[in-house]
Amino acid sequence: MEYFVGIDLGGTNIKSGVVDGNGKPLSKLSVTTPAESGPEAVMQAMASAARQATAAAGISMSQVTGIGMGAPGPLDLEAGVVRSAPNMAGWIDVPIRRRVSELLGQPCVLENDANAAGFGEYWCGAGRQLPNVKHLVMITLGTGIGSGIVINGEVLHGTYTMAGEAGHVIIVPGGRQCACGQRGCIEAYASATNTAKRAIEAVQAGGKTTLAEAFKGRVDQITSKDVFDHAKAGDKFATQIVDETGYYLGILCVNICRFFDPQMIVFAGGMIHAGDHLFDIIRSSFADNTWTVVKDHVQIVPALLGNDAGFIGAAGVAWNEKRQGRLK
Ligand SMILES: [Zn+2]
Repeated sequence: MEYFVGIDLGGTNIKSGVVDGNGKPLSKLSVTTPAESGPEAVMQAMASAARQATAAAGISMSQVTGIGMGAPGPLDLEAGVVRSAPNMAGWIDVPIRRRVSELLGQPCVLENDANAAGFGEYWCGAGRQLPNVKHLVMITLGTGIGSGIVINGEVLHGTYTMAGEAGHVIIVPGGRQCACGQRGCIEAYASATNTAKRAIEAVQAGGKTTLAEAFKGRVDQITSKDVFDHAKAGDKFATQIVDETGYYLGILCVNICRFFDPQMIVFAGGMIHAGDHLFDIIRSSFADNTWTVVKDHVQIVPALLGNDAGFIGAAGVAWNEKRQGRLK
């Protein structure tokens, strides 16, 4: 059996674990990211987490075939370098692949964290629910909207590793301002944060809703979960906000199908725990807006790996590099 270590580097936590060649996790752990101590301390913590993960799995580092790392972008994948990391001080052109490989004495692979999570769902999460899935797109609904695109079993990177930025697909030309500088991106409407923000703005504009009563004097504290809860309880205003989020996500799915024709579109992130209701709206928006010339067979489903998708997928990327003869 081959063993791979996955390391998911986040601004707050480093998650790591050992995954075998069949995609089965054998250990997992999480340590605090010493972000304020600079890149060298963080890479030492990553190596230490990987060593703990192998010990917890009952194997030695010498039995590990390869190590996959998921990191926030922008990255230079060919050089194995983190160009900058928005939430961590001092991260400019850090040669993370070379350094972590040096510390652990095993070959390392670097991947964007959202892509790694998408690969994880493809390799041993939602992608296993259907036979022979080769093309899968994962959309993560959080503060923003992230995505990972797997085509023919490989992560799609594009020219500058910028492919798979589905959150910045423009869905309303000239629409809401997005943090990226564009207007009308789907992220500006349908991320968890912006679903809440649309509700907050509408309450502040005098919308009649149970949210206004429940959050009197602290309207800016409304979260996407609150909006979903009030919609579930029958509030018309909250229902409309939720419907809009689902509507836009359904349109995004149509556009994804036109580009990639995937077998699956997988949604991840806290907002999917709103459950069947959100998926019902997304699927019905998809059905209302997709073409009619041929039947769509795409499955629109929730992610299965939760917060483990990052490290499992990072290990999976190393597994795939080995399989393709590219691990060095
Ligand atoms: Zn944008």
